[in-house]
Amino acid sequence: MTKYIVVAGGVISGVGKGVATASIGKILQEYGFSVTAVKIDPYLNCDAGTMRPTEHGEVWVTDDGGETDQDLGTYERFLDIQLPRTNNITTGQIYRTILEKERRGDFLGQTVQFIPHIPEEINKRIKESTKDHDICLVEIGGTIGDYENIPFLLATRSLKREVGKDSLIHILVTYLPIPSHIEEMKTKPTQMSIKLLEESGIHPDFILCRGKTALDKVRKKKIETYSGIDSEDVISMPDISGPGKPNTVYVVPLELEEENLGEKVLKKLKLEKKKNPDWTSWKEKVSKLINPMNKTKIAIVGKYLNIGDYSLRDSYISISEALKHAGANNDTKIEVSWLNSKDLEDPTNLPQLNEFDGIIIPGGFGSSGTEGKINTIKFCRENNLPFLGLCYGLQFAVVEFARNVCGLVNANTTEVDSNTPHPVIDILPEQKDIYTKGGTMRLGSYKAILQDSVVKSIYKSEIVHERHRHRYEVNPFYHTILENKGLSLCGKSPDKKLVEFIELPNHKFFIATQAHPEFKSSLEKPAPLFDAFVKTALQTSTN
Ligand code: GLN
Repeated sequence: MTKYIVVAGGVISGVGKGVATASIGKILQEYGFSVTAVKIDPYLNCDAGTMRPTEHGEVWVTDDGGETDQDLGTYERFLDIQLPRTNNITTGQIYRTILEKERRGDFLGQTVQFIPHIPEEINKRIKESTKDHDICLVEIGGTIGDYENIPFLLATRSLKREVGKDSLIHILVTYLPIPSHIEEMKTKPTQMSIKLLEESGIHPDFILCRGKTALDKVRKKKIETYSGIDSEDVISMPDISGPGKPNTVYVVPLELEEENLGEKVLKKLKLEKKKNPDWTSWKEKVSKLINPMNKTKIAIVGKYLNIGDYSLRDSYISISEALKHAGANNDTKIEVSWLNSKDLEDPTNLPQLNEFDGIIIPGGFGSSGTEGKINTIKFCRENNLPFLGLCYGLQFAVVEFARNVCGLVNANTTEVDSNTPHPVIDILPEQKDIYTKGGTMRLGSYKAILQDSVVKSIYKSEIVHERHRHRYEVNPFYHTILENKGLSLCGKSPDKKLVEFIELPNHKFFIATQAHPEFKSSLEKPAPLFDAFVKTALQTSTN
């Protein structure tokens, strides 16, 4: 029978529940258990697809085409598993289902009520997500005390009654501030959060204490005394970033294990470990992240840049993480610079690109800064500078090649110029059909067939599956024109209509894909294209 671990957050939002959840999952995997994870988002959107990335971070795409919260990405990167879209539950989905059932008459005349119908639907979904896994982690978004997450707390309380107290535990992740005027770590907000959680009938089994520094014995004891939680179940989870700190989230499972969290959790769940953890390879990767031998300078040329650093980084988090995974694998620190493509519309700014060992053009939408991206790609092509294009990045690589090599004046994507004389990137008639029928994009995992090429040698396979999130495609009318001028369309859909990968022969590294390989990168298995890109950038670095 599946055991459940529910993770909720107290005191402040952004306390690190996602990393905590993923880290606990990683620890339990090391003890030999199969683990899955569910993210609950208490908002009314049915999924994250309609949310602005600058507001809510990156939209994560699952294999089965779901557009979900980015925490699913955190779980996949730590756990090296593929989660289905149903593992992201939102309030919107719950209410939609209940209301649809009500309209169909499925409730057979009953009064449909918040209790019991909403928690029942929540638990039905949680149980469906567990499949055949030994342990299911359930992260409840938001902060204890929010009105919004009460239904989910009530649901997990009743799930505990249903499955038994040895089969479901609650973990509360809190924050312990150190006010600068007293320079002392305060436990009061944590005590208050525990109290708030208890108002929902839940007594937490563990408290994970986030804070600038580690929690000392005195404070653990204080939480025990005031909140009735054994001090050994009060676990310290100090900040990982700052001077002298590891500066990588991947160290968190190791730090939690220092406090024996794995065995303590197993004891509460009445589980015997299936094997002894072997952290050798994880530790090796983490040590390469902390103390790499080399340094590689990568520029990411995109938009979303005038919103401030924080949201910018969050909207491209999968790319940053995929670069870190590749960096750890190649023993190099990746120093990322975020360049505004608008600034590169002025050609006199292009030579600054030579400062970098490699350039990435990431995915994107709309027309702002596109000429800067095209200039960047031309510069990479002509100056043998390693280039990796992701989705929109592939589309502009094709536009650039069409204009400057094939001589197709004003070639463009119809997303930017609907009147272009050469719509090298366009919505294909087959796609138009899907979109008018309510589909929004080509989403999720698609198969590509690779011909002999650098890309094929990187993937070491003829067939690859990568995830997609886009509307436009390389226009088949131009395939031969592009190929005749030397652009290798080296990966296509099985029916050969859609271009999935392109590369330029006789270039250090000039590869682009219509997919988003960053969605399948984990610390233990870096995405092959990112890995090869970083390897080339490092080996050929002139810096
Ligand atoms: N805007 C482009 C499209 O819709 C690319 C999308 C992306 O980069 N994810 O096809």
